[in-house]
Amino acid sequence: MATIAEPELQFTTRPVDAPISAQVRAAVLANPGFGTQFSEHMVTIEWSEKRGWHDAVVGPRQPIALDPAAAVLHYAQEIFEGLKAYRHPDGSVALFRPYENARRFNRSAERLAMPALPEDVFVESVRRLVEADRQWLPTVDGGSLYLRPFMFASEVFLGVRPAREYKYVVIASPAGNYFKSGAPAVSIWVSEDYTRAAPGGTGAAKCGGNYAASLVPQAEAIAKGHDQVVFLDAVENKWIEELGGMNLYFVFDDGTLLTPALSGTILAGITRDSLLTLARDEGLTVQEGRYGIDQWREDAQSGRLVECFACGTAAVVTPVGKVASRSGEFTIGSGGPGQLTQKLKSRLVAIQRGEAPDPHGWVVKLG
Ligand SMILES: *Cc1c(COP(=O)(O)O)cnc(C)c1O
Repeated sequence: MATIAEPELQFTTRPVDAPISAQVRAAVLANPGFGTQFSEHMVTIEWSEKRGWHDAVVGPRQPIALDPAAAVLHYAQEIFEGLKAYRHPDGSVALFRPYENARRFNRSAERLAMPALPEDVFVESVRRLVEADRQWLPTVDGGSLYLRPFMFASEVFLGVRPAREYKYVVIASPAGNYFKSGAPAVSIWVSEDYTRAAPGGTGAAKCGGNYAASLVPQAEAIAKGHDQVVFLDAVENKWIEELGGMNLYFVFDDGTLLTPALSGTILAGITRDSLLTLARDEGLTVQEGRYGIDQWREDAQSGRLVECFACGTAAVVTPVGKVASRSGEFTIGSGGPGQLTQKLKSRLVAIQRGEAPDPHGWVVKLG
């Protein structure tokens, strides 16, 4: 990717006025949950057409003042990323494939008509936040510091065109072990009335708008007693795409795996990509292709399909035990976590946490 050389961006550091006491922080870190507790700092960088990226600050986490006519509030020009910092057994802190997040952020930016952020600035912003908030890395087993970089149109303007001013922000949230005692299998609901992404739309971009559109079908899944919604393709209403925020894998009785191909309407998960590589390292055959809902039911019932799992940064790997739609329910394998699912998850988690060698150079140590 050709990026115009930015003048060296200097980060300014602003101190937190009233630091949170070690006691309060310890209480948060003992039971962090997910997405409700936040660290003390944030990074902000401004962009304008005239000045490009400027005013990079590592400062106290605080509310952002927005004009009521800020473009993002009207036309949803917003994108985000999600990645984690892990504490390794040697005491160092490491990120997992942050340059992949940086590249995907810029692909999302391009689709939403937003400026690209140089990859090294993206990774440096995350590194700086983790450095400032190092004490916010949970000590609980399986804990991590979840990092949320995002960018939105801040220009005060109601016309419909790409904004000329943007704000990039990174915040951090201590995260516990998503599932304390190993991941239970989830039940998923096939959405037949709603789709997530149409060809030519924004399905491959990590933008807030995609999530806004997934809330009603997700709520429908919950109302029907399921955990997650699974979306089918928008053209034939037949091909399995992904969940609201996780990619899917299917495991067959001959030991092969299948994951829906990146057709342009699926988000290119970094967990998905890492598992593709790890499964191939194991000598397994993994296909990227199409898989239909009728075939899914038939294979689950005949026993040809033995496992199914969802994957993404937040929960890493989540077994899928049951699938339901208006035409009935079916169970996959035993209905519980499958063996290969567990094995691939352990392999990936061990690399992320520095408990196993990193043969693909995925881990970026922050010192
Ligand atoms: C973020 C996301 C994923 C998972 O991506 P990871 O890089 O593995 O975290 C999958 N689907 C959607 C829609 C997403 O937004």
